Amino acid sequence: MSEVKRALITGITGQDGGHLAALLHEKGYEIYGIIRGQHNPKREAVISEFPYVTLIDADLTDQSSLIRAMQTARPHEVYNLGAISHVGYSFKDPMLTNDVTAKGVLNMLEAIRLTDPENTVRFYQASTSEMFGGLEYNRPEKGYTEESAFHPRSPYGVAKLYGHWITQNYRESYDMFAVSGILFNHEGDRRGVEFVTRKITNAVARIKLGLQDHIELGDLWPKRDWGYAGDYVEGMWRMLQQDQPKDYVLATGETHSIEEFLDLAFKEIGIEDWKPYVKQNPAFMRPAEVDLLLGDPTKAETELGWKRKVDFPGLVKLMVQHDLAVESKKI
Ligand code: GDP
Repeated sequence: MSEVKRALITGITGQDGGHLAALLHEKGYEIYGIIRGQHNPKREAVISEFPYVTLIDADLTDQSSLIRAMQTARPHEVYNLGAISHVGYSFKDPMLTNDVTAKGVLNMLEAIRLTDPENTVRFYQASTSEMFGGLEYNRPEKGYTEESAFHPRSPYGVAKLYGHWITQNYRESYDMFAVSGILFNHEGDRRGVEFVTRKITNAVARIKLGLQDHIELGDLWPKRDWGYAGDYVEGMWRMLQQDQPKDYVLATGETHSIEEFLDLAFKEIGIEDWKPYVKQNPAFMRPAEVDLLLGDPTKAETELGWKRKVDFPGLVKLMVQHDLAVESKKI
């Protein structure tokens, strides 16, 4: 019988970490997750939802802890999903964003190199559409591809671009199986309320239940290519099962404004005109904005056989219904 596959996930407490743990468990993997901090408030939730995950205390900014994590888990696959991942927050703490989201990738790659002399470990880096920067810098016909030019517009995007290039550099320099998935926005019931989609669906559910009367948002005109996170972790896994290490865009190939998201979310609770319920608050605007993101997933669809299953209306519905169920339990 072949050996059980072992995976090490950084960012196990985040949205994608949860979806990926569930997927790899289904596939029979032994799963290790890196968790940071003595009083991490998410620790108990991870233990109760994913009892099959072995948690390892480590920190992307502490390379020795990553070496120990590698020695404990002895993984075949490493998924680097850990990051300071919020664009708005990255403007408030650019140094920490750099330490974790940029240098953390290098720390992880070096930890792999130092503990894997046979060079057999496969590494996935969570790259992002935020590296592209929007239409002012690059106007692709069908959407951004793996070949499109980068022009990040936030400390988060800049840090992720470093992670992207250092992953490519380790692949070219040391022949590592190291790949980046350039994932466009992916949302769902595990998304944090600091992101606009979940903030909206949570508020819509609470408005329906009489728990709040309005929502405060920043700019409503930016457009994003929003998919469902559960679909996207399948793409990550597929990237690591290929014969050759290559980078791939995962996206839906559609773009929608926040206004369109509001339209569908409020319709789900029977409200046609959401304007009386939405107030604009400059606190949620950013020093620099990405106007439009649209991905072209042709390469992933052709080479990985990957395609998103949940479409935009399906995503909004899934999130509103989930939040209605969660919020109604609080009454
Ligand atoms: P991002 O694409 O990774 O930055 O994901 P977000 O969900 O944080 O933001 C998506 C878009 O929504 C960006 O253009 C934000 O400027 C915009 N936006 C408007 N109001 C808000 C808000 O209240 N919170 C967040 N997070 N984003 C908002």
